[in-house]
Amino acid sequence: MLSSIVLCSNLLVANISTSATSNITPIKTSVKYYSVKKGDTYFSLFNKARLPKKNISQFITALKSHKNFKLKPNHLYSVERSKKQKINSLKVYNTENDQVLVFESVDNQASVYTEEINYKVKIKNIKGKVVGSLVNAINSQSKDRILAYRFLDAFALDFNIRKQIQRNAPFALTFEEKFIGNHFVKTDEVLKAELEINKKNIKRTYVENDFGGSFIDPEENFTNRPFYLPLPKMRITSFYQRRRKHPVSGRRIAHLGIDFEAPTGTPIFSPLEGEIIKFGKTRGAGRYVVIKHKNNFKSYYNHLNLYDPNLKKGMMVKTGTYIGDVGCTGYCTKPHLHFALKKNNKFINPIKHIKPHPFIIKKLVERERKKLALVL
Ligand SMILES: [Zn+2]
Repeated sequence: MLSSIVLCSNLLVANISTSATSNITPIKTSVKYYSVKKGDTYFSLFNKARLPKKNISQFITALKSHKNFKLKPNHLYSVERSKKQKINSLKVYNTENDQVLVFESVDNQASVYTEEINYKVKIKNIKGKVVGSLVNAINSQSKDRILAYRFLDAFALDFNIRKQIQRNAPFALTFEEKFIGNHFVKTDEVLKAELEINKKNIKRTYVENDFGGSFIDPEENFTNRPFYLPLPKMRITSFYQRRRKHPVSGRRIAHLGIDFEAPTGTPIFSPLEGEIIKFGKTRGAGRYVVIKHKNNFKSYYNHLNLYDPNLKKGMMVKTGTYIGDVGCTGYCTKPHLHFALKKNNKFINPIKHIKPHPFIIKKLVERERKKLALVL
């Protein structure tokens, strides 16, 4: 039985026998994991994987269309071999975009392709008391700094943790750890978060969906907040501050909005119905959109990669309408959405005006909240 494998380079279109996988006897392969060392090149990795010399030039050609896989020290790769089946493969993992680049030689037939990394996931719980800062208290028990920030995201819309947290406040969180083989790669989403604030134990549960995910409070439905989250998922990297050090210029200037980190291309949705009153490009804001809403609100979206080509000045958009994609245009160091709100023509802190989830998952959130409320 033959099956063709789609390859990323035009030169490499190979038919590879799949008889090995349909045999009764399973393929015996040995897998070894390594981390990229300084000075390693794709040539040295091909050698280590004992990939046939005659395939190397095809592999090199294919590499040109995989610019995401530049070798960096400490990146993980694996070498897989089956002597009997004459299979040799090298897998190079990019854990940032969860893709693995596979160089494979089966009976001297070369193929190169990418696929999603199949992580092993373990659920972990940690708890403790806030001694010093909350971030340090969590970090002392975790291998990944991002965990503490995700924990803070769970409460960011409702509390000013820095001001409201008290010494020795208990916290607890449940989260996922991801592994390749037996190698820890990264912590993933915080699934449950608990924190004592003002002597009350506050709980948040993460609800994942096809578009992202949100932290849900079973006891609060945020009906008093007019705006939905403009993104599928919330990750705050910078808050509204009247004065802060600018990441590019180093000068202390106000930051009159919230920065939501998201990969380039993440869709942005109108968080409330309104009228498109402006869109365009400036040096600082990059590509931007401005929407006017009822009750003298205006919302601003900066650094967009692109805006919806159908946008027109004066057009009305409904809540949840796609308006553009996250990017890093203008003064920007990492892809994010700068979201700002004006009320009566003055910038205000948006944090108390937005719900923690986007409009597209409104129904899902309501369903999950009911379920959670029953459990409580
Ligand atoms: Zn910003």
